[in-house]
Amino acid sequence: MKDLTRVVHHPMVSLKGFDTLTVPTYRASSIIFDDAQAYANRKHRGPDGYTYGLHGTPTTKTLEAQISALEHAERTVLLPSGQAAITIVFLAVLEPGDKVLIPDTVYPPVRIFCAQYLAARGIDHVVYDPLIGGDIAELIDDRTRLIWTESPGSTTMEFQDVPAIVAAAKARSVLTGCDNTWATPLLFKPLDHGVDFSMQALSKYVGGHSDILMGAVSVKDIDLYTRLKDTGRMIGMGVSPDDCSMVLRGIETIGVRLAHVGQVAEEFAGRIVDLPGVRQVLHPSLSDCPGHESWRRDFSGASGVFTIIITAEAEADLAKALGQLKTFAIGSSWGGTRSLIAPMSVEGDRTLRDSKSDMMLRVSIGLEHPDDLWADLAAIFDTFGSASASGASD
Ligand SMILES: *Cc1c(COP(=O)(O)O)cnc(C)c1O
Repeated sequence: MKDLTRVVHHPMVSLKGFDTLTVPTYRASSIIFDDAQAYANRKHRGPDGYTYGLHGTPTTKTLEAQISALEHAERTVLLPSGQAAITIVFLAVLEPGDKVLIPDTVYPPVRIFCAQYLAARGIDHVVYDPLIGGDIAELIDDRTRLIWTESPGSTTMEFQDVPAIVAAAKARSVLTGCDNTWATPLLFKPLDHGVDFSMQALSKYVGGHSDILMGAVSVKDIDLYTRLKDTGRMIGMGVSPDDCSMVLRGIETIGVRLAHVGQVAEEFAGRIVDLPGVRQVLHPSLSDCPGHESWRRDFSGASGVFTIIITAEAEADLAKALGQLKTFAIGSSWGGTRSLIAPMSVEGDRTLRDSKSDMMLRVSIGLEHPDDLWADLAAIFDTFGSASASGASD
């Protein structure tokens, strides 16, 4: 073999005895075949077979199998972001003339996708109250193909009665999907409640380190899996094995990360309730959290994201209060090791519910020492308290 040929043919080395605890990162675009016949027949390998790097390598399939096991699914499809994992479901099942029902509290880009992309292609969407429960039956008609749920709702933390919605959907042969990003399959398993598509943004708790964008959709039904795979193939969506190996590393520690942030978040939420400038704390352990009973019944715990609604008076001092943060960073895309606060209102993201212009602090607890985190939070509410005290005296 000449050198120019040699340099593109790497020597084979033995893997015998190389037993490790890690998943190798298999990178590939080309998949090669033993003979011309095998190449000609490659389509017969089906959605699970190796035909092209975009459609899967052993690394991507290891992550898919891992998520399937956790979600109690038969198959999982990986997409380049959480948003892509949602849109692939909609694109795989909806056709012109069909209708999809989405909760008012849906991750806001989903509403935009419905209003701007699907509507222009003859697919309608109807926005429903996330706490509608079994009454969703009244919104189902012959054109309804899919009911999307997200529990809890983005920012305002409504826990949906997913089993009641699924029962109403099944009675009319309508498919259901659930955005399970907040809970992850460690705290809630939508497929066990009859949901057809369980979706997660792996960018959040599963990746867990604020350095990855990826999404997953898990299903029990192989026909639905084939539809998702075929749609992804037509659109040309796939994920990088390097990114998958990062997620496989992140997922190993999700159990201890979630248990820790869940405990700290719950404790903080309980302490914040009575502090100055607080109108309501939206954490599922508190009985006034919308859908608290559904959470108690269906979830095995809470993760580390919750929301504080502040009073109109406190809003005036918000910039000053947040200017003193030492440990929390200001930003979104939660679920990593660093704690985040995002000051936000849902104005413009809702069409059904009132109190749209409330100012909220969405808090994501990370892995820093709880004392340092509490010092930051205490400083925020001290600022609100001293401002209102001085306001009262003059
Ligand atoms: C972040 C998020 C998404 C989108 O995930 P990306 O990977 O950022 O596209 C979807 N749903 C929920 C609930 C999220 O928090």
